[in-house]
Amino acid sequence: MKIASIINGKEFKGKQRETLAVNNPYNQEKVAEISLASIEDLNEAIDNCFSVFHDTMKKMPAYQRSDILRNTANLMEDRKQSFAETITKEAGKPLKYSLGEVDRAIQVLRFASEEAKHINSEVIPMDAAIGGENRLGLTKKVPLGVVAAITPFNFPLNLSLHKIAPAIAAGNTIVFKPAEKTPVSAYMLVKLLHEAGLPPGALNLVLGLGEELGDTLVQHEKVQKVTFTGSLPVGRKIRENAGFKKITLELGSNSPNILFDDVKVGDVVADLVKGGFAFSGQVCISAQRIYVHQSLYDSFLEEYVKATEALVIGDPMDEQTEFGPMINEEAAERAKQWIDDAAAKGAKIQTGGKQQGTMLTPTIMTNVKNDMKVIAEEVFAPIVSVIPFETEEEVIKLSNDSIYGLQAGVFTNDLTRAFRVANQLEMGGVWINEISTYRQDNHPYGGVKQSGIGKEGVKYAVEDMTDLKFIGLNLNKPR
Ligand code: NAP
Repeated sequence: MKIASIINGKEFKGKQRETLAVNNPYNQEKVAEISLASIEDLNEAIDNCFSVFHDTMKKMPAYQRSDILRNTANLMEDRKQSFAETITKEAGKPLKYSLGEVDRAIQVLRFASEEAKHINSEVIPMDAAIGGENRLGLTKKVPLGVVAAITPFNFPLNLSLHKIAPAIAAGNTIVFKPAEKTPVSAYMLVKLLHEAGLPPGALNLVLGLGEELGDTLVQHEKVQKVTFTGSLPVGRKIRENAGFKKITLELGSNSPNILFDDVKVGDVVADLVKGGFAFSGQVCISAQRIYVHQSLYDSFLEEYVKATEALVIGDPMDEQTEFGPMINEEAAERAKQWIDDAAAKGAKIQTGGKQQGTMLTPTIMTNVKNDMKVIAEEVFAPIVSVIPFETEEEVIKLSNDSIYGLQAGVFTNDLTRAFRVANQLEMGGVWINEISTYRQDNHPYGGVKQSGIGKEGVKYAVEDMTDLKFIGLNLNKPR
């Protein structure tokens, strides 16, 4: 399969361009070949989005934007299996998780379709100010213009839609740069939106390397907003490059999960296995750190190791598979190195720690210290550390001792304690009696500290994709 950028509704097939192979992370079979966009192509994509915004999208009524999003959801539902299999082939994600991702993507489209009709305005009580008698003031939420959407490999469909669907709902146009490792589902998505009625040029797909295209895209004067999901180093660069543009940054995390002494170990083990090892830990809110009250520590660790060792490891295309490869060999080697570094400094590998090619076995570590990379940094790999604690104060301090703050899980039946802890955790979101890895697509989602800036979750993303305009009328002076 050969794929290329899509600009103004047309796939770039013209002049000879450099190509890049997309390989299946499990068996290295070629999934597709992409024709890489040049800077010239990118500039064309931005210029085209700019004119289509002014000529078409900003004038398109809400009901039409809503219809396009709903049509896309319906079409995607019909082609669910094909989207899921594509994600599995290009990302190595076990099929059952890919199917789950497509279900969520369909919901995101439906939430956005509904949201498009509820971008409400406000009438300001102008006479609350001295001299404001006989004046009418109102607000309007207006689209921004061209939005640059840059997305990661780990949820190539759903996280792209968390940007594209709200942008369309609000009436913007989008230059979409998906991850170079997972461009096929992105390509299918753009085609589907066009089939559902999105005008050419409202969403231009640019397939190319972030390192080569990123600066031009982020700095371009016709781009009004940059919305990025990805790693902290790239997020930092985007922040520096974006100047006065609005930005949303959804970055990394080393999410803590806290088990207090009243928890029944059997009730939480299965969820935390999923939370730590789903898609080989390559999830931004993966349960990287599990803090367990010392009274439960031994029994939890024993059951956690046992349940982790029972994971079905294998070909992600097999419906029974629960655990597959990492995205590439480089990522698996980097993670293995972090395990070895921690072990050399005294950490214990309770299970896992074996790497071959893209496969790294699910790894549980203990005896870890806060300055080890497996704790201090985002592992983004199947590595979970289990750490004992004694007091509430201590575990809050340990959890907050991080440059990140995306989402946490707190387990206890004592709701007063749960809220007390939730209030003190420096996180964008806290789940009580749920793993940090759980996310719905309709709640505000986004980190504090170096986990990011801004919120997603369709309604909140729409908010960030609009500007608040004030219009006032002086009724004292008829002309
Ligand atoms: P990444 O390496 O940061 O890449 C993300 C995107 O940025 C890709 O499209 C990449 O293009 C592009 N990019 C690379 N260099 C760029 C530059 N200089 N300027 C502009 N764009 C550039 O991240 P990843 O490995 O795909 O994804 C993993 C990271 O995403 C993890 O840190 C994870 O925590 C984070 N994440 C966060 C959330 C959240 O909601 N907070 C959700 C999912 C993932 P190329 O692919 O062409 O390099």
